[in-house]
Amino acid sequence: MPFSTLGLTKPLLNGVQSMGYVDPSPIQLRAIPPALAGRDVIASAQTGTGKTAAFALPVLQRLERHGACRCLILEPTRELAMQVETSLRDLARYTDMRTLSVFGGVGYGPQRTALKSGVDIIVATPGRLEDYLQSREIRLNDIEVLVLDEVDRMLDVGFLPAVRRIIAKCPKERQTLFFSATLPPEITELAAWALQDPERIEIGASHSVVETVTHGLYMVAAERKFDLLVAVLKKVDFQSAIVFARTKHGADKIAKKLRNTNHSVAVLHANRSQNQRIEALAGFKSGKYEVMVATDIAARGIDVAGVSHVINYDIPQHPEDYVHRIGRTGRATATGDAFTFVMPDEGKKLAGIERFIGQQIPRLTLEGFVTTARKGPIHDRTQEPGLSGEKRFRPQRPNRRHREAGGSRHR
Ligand code: AMP
Repeated sequence: MPFSTLGLTKPLLNGVQSMGYVDPSPIQLRAIPPALAGRDVIASAQTGTGKTAAFALPVLQRLERHGACRCLILEPTRELAMQVETSLRDLARYTDMRTLSVFGGVGYGPQRTALKSGVDIIVATPGRLEDYLQSREIRLNDIEVLVLDEVDRMLDVGFLPAVRRIIAKCPKERQTLFFSATLPPEITELAAWALQDPERIEIGASHSVVETVTHGLYMVAAERKFDLLVAVLKKVDFQSAIVFARTKHGADKIAKKLRNTNHSVAVLHANRSQNQRIEALAGFKSGKYEVMVATDIAARGIDVAGVSHVINYDIPQHPEDYVHRIGRTGRATATGDAFTFVMPDEGKKLAGIERFIGQQIPRLTLEGFVTTARKGPIHDRTQEPGLSGEKRFRPQRPNRRHREAGGSRHR
């Protein structure tokens, strides 16, 4: 079904076309009609499903008059706020809607100037928004549409109390669009309070690994991890790779060592200044850096076209982070590869991830590479016979319990 059947105006259809979208993704098909009709929507949608346009298009269509900020979009991270505002601006290029992103870590000056000149849609992170609410530079009295994006991430980073305070300042008569990859009890409770008779949409199980991604793991001793990283990067034909580390300090160390092996490397974690974060992401997107070493700050939602490989240098702490991290590759219709390094004492964490995604992650070996600490034969009972790191492998289908209608990526 083409976009033209969804009831969008011509300027927005032109915007969609200029983005190169041909058919709506499942979340867009399901969310746009009720949102255009003014209904509240609660959607659990896997990362990378096209949910930004699913809320941006109805918002742009429903805000007709100008004059005050009538739509607020809340995001958990600065990077997401910037990214969503860019998508909005792109989709709105044939309209006269004015958008602005406000987030911390940068000076107030340019944001203040933009606010004074008037904006229709604000994309914000909670902390900086609350500063502006306190100084009365932003008022929420005229909000017609409130979008809460990545709500489970807001919960993870401790923003839920601020989100509640912000929602309470919006008019009761409003439309609320609510997106969360998972719906734990705290989030369901928030939704019950914030939404009125919402349309419920579930697209794909948040447990499932994006089907365009092939993934596998290496069992490896701690002291061999860095050498394995170098060997994997050498072996695979990567254009751009994200390497996930558990800690900020770990990320810095890996980046430093990688630079010594002649890779161009960006680093993204919360201890870096906002300008450094912007430069790292922009440099990675433009191809200036071929590798980005990041903590989980980059695991959610960040959309970089053409990430060919994700390497979990450190196994994710929470099973759901596995899905988010490897969702950084294979976005939209591209395919990608994801590798996870697992140390011998991390069997429990691995079992948790495999239970969560409902499938076994294929075990890989890299020919000629010794993954054990001491030289000698590898006694690793977890390695499947016949699977080699050199071979590409097909992802296993998630089991029935985790497979749901619409779970595949839009193609
Ligand atoms: P999102 O989940 O909103 O971050 O979107 C993930 C990626 O899919 C982004 O690169 C979008 O530009 C892209 N995308 C969104 N909607 C469509 C569509 N209908 N067709 C093709 N690509 C899309």
